Amino acid sequence: MVRLKSYVNGAWFEGQAPFATLIDPATEAPVAEASTRGLDFAAAVKHAREVGGPALRALTFAQRAALIKEASRAIYAERERLLDIAQVNGGNTRGDAKFDVDGATATLSYYASVGKGLGDVHHLIDGDTEVLSRTNARFVGLHVRAPKRGVAVHVNAFNFPAWGTFEKAAVAWLAGMPVITKPATSTAWLTYEMVKILIDGKILPEGALQLIAGSAGDLLDQLGGQDVLAFTGSANTGATLRGSNCHTQRSVAVNVEADSLNAAVLGPDVERGDDVYNWFVRAVQVEMTQKAGQKCTAIRRVIVPESIADAVIEDLSDLLSRVVVGNPADATVTMGPLTTLSQLNDYRAGVALLSQDAEIVFGSAAPVNGVGAPEGKGAYAAPVVLRARDSLNAPNVHQHEVFGPVCTVLPYDGSAAQAAQIVALGEGSLATSVATDDRDFLAALLLELTPYNGRVLTVDKKVADQATPHGMVLPQLNHGGPGRAGGGEELGGLRGLDLYLQRTAIQGNRGVLERLLNVPKATG
Ligand code: NAP
Repeated sequence: MVRLKSYVNGAWFEGQAPFATLIDPATEAPVAEASTRGLDFAAAVKHAREVGGPALRALTFAQRAALIKEASRAIYAERERLLDIAQVNGGNTRGDAKFDVDGATATLSYYASVGKGLGDVHHLIDGDTEVLSRTNARFVGLHVRAPKRGVAVHVNAFNFPAWGTFEKAAVAWLAGMPVITKPATSTAWLTYEMVKILIDGKILPEGALQLIAGSAGDLLDQLGGQDVLAFTGSANTGATLRGSNCHTQRSVAVNVEADSLNAAVLGPDVERGDDVYNWFVRAVQVEMTQKAGQKCTAIRRVIVPESIADAVIEDLSDLLSRVVVGNPADATVTMGPLTTLSQLNDYRAGVALLSQDAEIVFGSAAPVNGVGAPEGKGAYAAPVVLRARDSLNAPNVHQHEVFGPVCTVLPYDGSAAQAAQIVALGEGSLATSVATDDRDFLAALLLELTPYNGRVLTVDKKVADQATPHGMVLPQLNHGGPGRAGGGEELGGLRGLDLYLQRTAIQGNRGVLERLLNVPKATG
């Protein structure tokens, strides 16, 4: 069994008993253990602020980008080993593991390339210089963005121990902030190995990356106004962190990515067997089964015209009936287990809750023996499709995220107004997809969806074969959603840097300021 260590204050730290046990969810065999008991969180924060921060800020954006590229390469070089760990500690199929690990290296690589384009500068000019004087153009104001002087603390969810860690770290490093990353304990082994590659390889300046392998202790109590807390996880933990003193009393910037009842809407024009129809049904199946449905962006609510609901259920059921649930070590398996036994309990309780508002029309939450797994062992969950009795009056379906291979079909009357109303009942989602060739329907729906979503994917017959998957988060585009989804924003190209950079307005003599701050001529 591997004993995970934290990396803090320039050294590897082994916690004291009691240890949390990490399991292989395919067999329930213990695979690793972790503890942060005895860890000095205050020293870790001090180290980031006093060692990592200055080292990163001494570099230009382009120089930091080069380090991020190195980090991506170093991790990629150990890809096969990392994919194996994702399988053993996360219950990932090889495809699931690639989604996570390759997602991490691709996001690092993307930020390396946009960072290179920012050049050898230490701050960014934000927008144009504004003339503020009534009499001449000499007294002006402009905005600069420069890295905050604290530490970026990243608290992540169990489902993406690779991507979740590095989609946040890439942005913070490019901005010039050191990172203390805390993966969810249950799947921290993969993060530990990835951090070890960067630390042992001395890829980053000392203090730029520290790892907390285990619980967060009193880490948040150490944070102050120059620090940042970026959290991904459940709405309950998000609410606890938002209510913590570091945010309410000391104004630590907090970004929350939480639960989300994402949706997919099928337009009234789409006929069974159309390219767009096939894209839609397949997208729902992929979102339900990739990572066993444990994706924050997965489609939970399938909004289809009443007239075609039976066909969608039949075709989706047909695809799902081919899914082989079991131990990812078995080559025939196409969907692995849930990541922990506690997730399995939540899935069962969640399906029971949804059943108050909807009928199960495919599958069941009854215990499953996974293919290639020891009898009665493993956190296996079968895909379940439900059909709402009344789409506008199904509170559990709109409020309760079942983090597993589960979706609910919500029939609607084919109008854009009703589709929008149903999506909005989720009170804020990360992503909604709309599949239609009806431009009038899309025109009526699109801007009704945007206030409730961080991302909207529209698919018609001309792009059905090229569209990126509904659940795929792209570093170029905003990730995050309003309301229930946490109200956060991440990625989105350079937009993601906003969390880590202080925007300051500066007023004064145009000639002096523009020279001092190297304002490019085009923005002057
Ligand atoms: P969770 O139980 O809320 O845990 C998330 C993280 O918070 C873990 O690292 C956990 O550490 C830590 N944590 C818990 N209590 C804490 C506290 N008091 N102080 C500091 N840290 C604390 O969530 P999860 O079960 O891992 O993740 C599942 C949820 O994440 C789902 O609801 C899913 O929708 C959401 N999610 C959202 C996104 C998104 O981008 N919006 C992405 C992925 C997942 P320990 O593990 O050590 O307890």
